[in-house]
Amino acid sequence: MNDVVDYEEAVAAFDPVLGIEVHVELGTRTKMFDGAPVAFGGEPNSRVTPVSLGLPGSLPKVNRAAVESAIRIGLALGCEIAESSRFARKNYFYPDMPKNFQTSQYDEPIARDGHLDVELADGTLFRVEIERAHMEEDAGKNTHVGGDAGRIHSAEYSLVDYNRAGVPLVEIVTRPITGAGARAPEVAAAYVQTLRDIFRVLDVSEARMERGNVRADVNVSLRPSPEAPLGTRTETKNVNSFRSIERAVQYEITRQAAVLLSGGTVVQETRHWHEETGETSPGRVKSDAEDYRYFPEPDLMPIVPDRAWIEELRARLPELPAARRRRLQAEWGFSDLEMRDAAGALDLIVETVAAGAAPAAARKWWTGELARVANSRGATLEELPVTPVQVAQLVALVDAGELTERLARQVLDGVLAGEGDPADVVATRGLRVVSDDGPLLAAIDDVIAANPDIVERIRAGRVQATGALVGSVMKATRGQADAGRVKELIASRLGV
Ligand code: MN
Repeated sequence: MNDVVDYEEAVAAFDPVLGIEVHVELGTRTKMFDGAPVAFGGEPNSRVTPVSLGLPGSLPKVNRAAVESAIRIGLALGCEIAESSRFARKNYFYPDMPKNFQTSQYDEPIARDGHLDVELADGTLFRVEIERAHMEEDAGKNTHVGGDAGRIHSAEYSLVDYNRAGVPLVEIVTRPITGAGARAPEVAAAYVQTLRDIFRVLDVSEARMERGNVRADVNVSLRPSPEAPLGTRTETKNVNSFRSIERAVQYEITRQAAVLLSGGTVVQETRHWHEETGETSPGRVKSDAEDYRYFPEPDLMPIVPDRAWIEELRARLPELPAARRRRLQAEWGFSDLEMRDAAGALDLIVETVAAGAAPAAARKWWTGELARVANSRGATLEELPVTPVQVAQLVALVDAGELTERLARQVLDGVLAGEGDPADVVATRGLRVVSDDGPLLAAIDDVIAANPDIVERIRAGRVQATGALVGSVMKATRGQADAGRVKELIASRLGV
């Protein structure tokens, strides 16, 4: 258990600086340097070749599809794509890395000098400068058995699965992120989330955090003021959800502040994140780059991508999430607030509008009634058993005057209960608005007869008393009448 200070106290005394390294596993068919298939899970050591196992005499070959994905990621982040880039050996011993080096890139990465504008919860844009994006291979996976919480220290034995060894990765490294102040935890999480969204629209990775397709290492340091030189940083490794990234940064700020305020010094080291306690603990003392004895990989030629190919890839980039949000906001005429409100349902609203609903109505259903239902069921909007087409059908019935808002909510209940499309629910539950005046007039006459005192007041000029009669008629018709029409009919019946 580390000493920490209050977060407000920490950010009042110090200026936090971040540095974030994100690894994304590419969804290529085969590995970075050999033909072994890339897939999640599988029988241990079933997806390997001599190259993935680093056997003597095996030689790597570069996967062109992985290079293409790396270039597209670089382009989407506004990076320069190198005329020539080279692989390097990053030397270290670990059982999940049978060659005793990771094939990575060092001083000649494929992409450098980009940036990403990150939108924060209140709509503020925060620019994160990207230093580089480079290609490398993933390591295998160690399982430590018989110990405490899967840690190696008290384990009886360890198992190694090389299925993941050689899976293509792109690592994206930021420059020091300054100026975030107290919002540093939010900036860190929003940055990784924005990257994740970009990987998805680029279709370079499934980008599922829970499967480790995207992993973030978060560097945090503190300095007394924005003018001071950078302080000593720690690197919290492999934080696997946006919420955890936010919590880990917040925790490190409060822990380092406690160290510094008590006159201590921050140790440069990697740290482990503990989801359950919300704390970090020391890993290993952090090596500097020179400790890895990087040297150029002699078994692979430099990558010299054709410039025309790069321009073709640039021209074919999909619309990126931020540009898409701006376009949709303009098309839909939403205010900034409405757009932020719609953020979690954007694709569903797009599909509902495509199925014919007005944007405002689509937004209202998904962010109102359906968000409420999802929340009460602990489900996501996508998991609800209702499709955008069904929501559009519901909106159409309301627009056509066949359903009131109140009836529409009952119809939606039926759809969610698996009773079919809105039209089916209307038919089976008999929920259509009563538009035929005949039954309405009968109900009105009953209500008039039962309320002589109210009728007296209306006839005496207290027109607002009509509301009480309208309410009684609506009740008698179980909400299926159109209130406007009922009011008209009462007025004509009473001759007022
Ligand atoms: Mn790496």
